[in-house]
Amino acid sequence: MVRERSKALQVRAEKFLPGGVDSPVRAFRAVGGEPPFVERAEGAYLVDADGNRYVDLFGSWGPMLLGHAFPPAVAAIREAAGRSASFGASTADEANLAELVQRCFPSMEKMRFVSSGTEACMSAIRLARGFTGRPFVIKFEGCYHGHADALLVKAGSGVATFGIPGSAGVPNETVMHTLALPYNDLAAVEAAFESHPELIACVILEPVVGNAGTIAPDAGYLKGLREITRKHGALLIFDEVMTGFRLALGGAQELFGFASGEDAPDLTTLGKIVGGGLPVGVFGGRADVMNYLAPLGPVYQAGTLSGNPLAMAAGIATLSYLLTHKDAIYSKLEETTASIASGVAKLAAKQGIGLTTNRVGSMFTWFFTPDAVTDFASASASDTEAFGRFHRAMLERGVWLPPSQFEAAFVSTALGEAEVAIVLEAAKESLELMIK
Ligand SMILES: *Cc1c(COP(=O)(O)O)cnc(C)c1O
Repeated sequence: MVRERSKALQVRAEKFLPGGVDSPVRAFRAVGGEPPFVERAEGAYLVDADGNRYVDLFGSWGPMLLGHAFPPAVAAIREAAGRSASFGASTADEANLAELVQRCFPSMEKMRFVSSGTEACMSAIRLARGFTGRPFVIKFEGCYHGHADALLVKAGSGVATFGIPGSAGVPNETVMHTLALPYNDLAAVEAAFESHPELIACVILEPVVGNAGTIAPDAGYLKGLREITRKHGALLIFDEVMTGFRLALGGAQELFGFASGEDAPDLTTLGKIVGGGLPVGVFGGRADVMNYLAPLGPVYQAGTLSGNPLAMAAGIATLSYLLTHKDAIYSKLEETTASIASGVAKLAAKQGIGLTTNRVGSMFTWFFTPDAVTDFASASASDTEAFGRFHRAMLERGVWLPPSQFEAAFVSTALGEAEVAIVLEAAKESLELMIK
């Protein structure tokens, strides 16, 4: 595969942008090889600057659930752009999108739009601290909640990829109230509450982890977290930036039976799919908690471009489509993803390659390890060098996987039988190459 133009564009980008990128994992450092520069995308395919086509298995890291250049979203963005890109004043579409979000996530009685998942999580944490008057936050190793200082502790994903525990530039004082515990370990959470009585504001987690590769919660884990947080007067925050609208219309909370009532999380954060590819995040939940936000309450939070009209329009087009085609969409995603994930697992088994496939709905990870992956420690036991070789071989055969062992792969509704066949053929050749 020739990538001369991409190579030249990378050289040019490096003149102006550190590493040539605006988000570190795009530089492909974790898998080696050179990142193709994308020129356009349509449906299931990315097209690079040299005209090479790739089946997209990372979907812009999650947002593109309905495939690229989804016509209703494109039309909505065009129409909104003609009425001006931003006003800094209220528009009807903010409540319109909020109503659609609430139909999918009934636990979000009130919500606020922001411009990224990072902002949604950062703001939800501030709100939880303000509401409870407590300083400590529990998060889990390998869970990523954006790049806000206080949450950049054992944060999986891009950070794990580089093998550093946090980040330079984050003072110890900023993270001294962040407790990072192992995932799927309720006893560790109990112990933290025992040793910090009435000091823990909230527990935030990915209800299905995507940022250490895909890891599902053990049976009873989410329920256990709900019980412990309630007992100790702390808030439970589901970070569904990745899982929201992906695992089900109502995300992991719908999938696992936490959508409403006693068991629902107090706050939820969303991003990615909710913006239909435009920069949007949203956080919301219990009305009494949300009303602590300015202008009603003492917790400050704001944004010049929050509730941006183009982003609202893309979100409304996306969610409207999801709501009206729900059953067909989620059963198709399940079927396509199962074919790809288990198809490749079978090929690896045939070649005697130790591969553990974790999948929940349309997100999955092939861990290059024969052992079960249930938390960040077991994910880290994977052979990342083998993953890198697999990634490069797949890319060469026109299949673009997420460029790190610690990132989930995502399937869109644009993938059909033809794309499944391309992926399986590419995987067969790539795995054969690896054992030679
Ligand atoms: C992507 C992600 C974020 C951060 O969202 P950005 O829009 O990249 O700031 C937060 N939480 C989870 C679970 C994510 O996957």
